[in-house]
Amino acid sequence: MPLPIGHSLAGYLTYLGVERDVTFRRWKIILLYLFCANLPDLDILPGFLMGLPNRYHHGISHSLGFAILAGMLVILYKRWRGHGHLLRSLSITSGLYFTHVLLDCLIVDTSFPYGVQLLWPLSSQYVISPVLLFPTVYKANTSGAFLGSLFQFGNLKLIGVELLYFLPLVGAAHLILRRRRERP
Ligand SMILES: [Zn+2]
Repeated sequence: MPLPIGHSLAGYLTYLGVERDVTFRRWKIILLYLFCANLPDLDILPGFLMGLPNRYHHGISHSLGFAILAGMLVILYKRWRGHGHLLRSLSITSGLYFTHVLLDCLIVDTSFPYGVQLLWPLSSQYVISPVLLFPTVYKANTSGAFLGSLFQFGNLKLIGVELLYFLPLVGAAHLILRRRRERP
């Protein structure tokens, strides 16, 4: 996984690209985008509770099938609450989720099986990009050491790379939006 910083910036970029009214006053909407952009990594929780946080990480939770499932759950919730724009909600939620999965295909993976189950349920094969853009994330295999391991020095490199990729894109998106607003 890129760290939550990278996934959150990707979610924020999606927010800037998709929403018409993009102000920080809509912080609850922004938080929803960031939540969906990080959602697949909740697969760490069940393993974490069992003492092995990586046990289910990058399995079927990181797949096209789960991306669609997440969108369907949002649709069910919105229908229950009587809200509209269901197709839009489906595409945004599933899009954010699947973008996370695709980003995870681009990171150096040092533990077998490499990559994620990208196309599950169509295929159970693990997929990793032939071109890797992110250095590996250092994380412990036991719950006791897991959270502390995320703060080790090696992960600073990954944070730096994530900021290097995403901050210029966020800056450019803000610039484009500002110019668009100022256009007569
Ligand atoms: Zn992930």
